[in-house]
Amino acid sequence: MARVGEFDIIRDYFAGAPTGDSVILGIGDDCALLQPPAGSVLATSVDTLVAGRHFPEAADPAKIASRALRVNLSDLAAMGAKPLWFTLALTLPTASRKWLQGFSRGLLETAREYGISLVGGDTTAGPLSITVQVTGCAQKPLRRDGASVGDAVYVSGPLGAAAAALRVVLGKEQVDSELSQAADAAFYWPEPQLALAESIAPLASAAIDISDGLLADLGHICRASGVSAEVELEALPVAPLARELAGTQARELAATGGDDYQLCFTVPAARVAELEQMDTGAVRIGTLVDAAGEPRVLARRHGQSWAPKHAGYQHF
Ligand code: ADP
Ligand code: MG
Repeated sequence: MARVGEFDIIRDYFAGAPTGDSVILGIGDDCALLQPPAGSVLATSVDTLVAGRHFPEAADPAKIASRALRVNLSDLAAMGAKPLWFTLALTLPTASRKWLQGFSRGLLETAREYGISLVGGDTTAGPLSITVQVTGCAQKPLRRDGASVGDAVYVSGPLGAAAAALRVVLGKEQVDSELSQAADAAFYWPEPQLALAESIAPLASAAIDISDGLLADLGHICRASGVSAEVELEALPVAPLARELAGTQARELAATGGDDYQLCFTVPAARVAELEQMDTGAVRIGTLVDAAGEPRVLARRHGQSWAPKHAGYQHF
């Protein structure tokens, strides 16, 4: 196979990416030149995915790319921001054309789907790792610290699918091909909740995306806002795939499992009726209460206080 250099990679796989009106100059110069929409606040976030830690090294590159961009888009959704631009820092052990073709296809398809432009990046040799930085603009940013006592707590949709899928995705559990495809989709194609975020932004007081597990992530809202949350486990929408793969453990996975990238958000009591009329598919799971000096999530199941056996994922 012909040797592929850094500049060949950029030219052949990334430089042709379509860009929107907000891009004055994209890939190819020292910096991209970008024109933010007038009067908007920019929201920016970066995430690194490391082979062997966040995805199996041998995974299909198109899927890895899709997941890398989607998890970043989820952060924009959680902030109530509309996607504009992203950059890609790619570290590759070898420059395989087959891998790069798959990767750039998965990446640029996802970019097109969500209307975000690739405007730059960096390409280096080393252990496989993918860093995506996204920037968007927010009319009304959804911060974690905006929630108050009395607010209703919602999740945007079913939980537990990605956590239940993990054993299948990692090849630790064999299932039939239909279930295996569903597991793959749950893990590699999480749907960033951008449309929902846009519709709830005018009403919501705080939001976060569920990457580490509902109870752990809602805990971040509680600490940032200085409130506690009462959550009823029986109210959680459990993903059908979680039921199929995890059986009686499904509800616990919905409460604690990560990687679904649904949103958890809060709505002031006075605006709950408005939200309920909007038909967003969001499900109410609890209420914020006085923290009494110790902000935390108070989970209950069948009226009894309930604590997970495993807390949310932490790297260190
Ligand atoms: P510099 O030496 O100035 O950092 P590079 O040689 O790293 O420039 O990159 C050249 C151009 O290609 C820059 O515009 C950079 O943003 C872009 N680029 C490099 N790698 C990637 C990539 N993986 N994806 C998208 N754009 C990239
Ligand atoms: Mg560079």
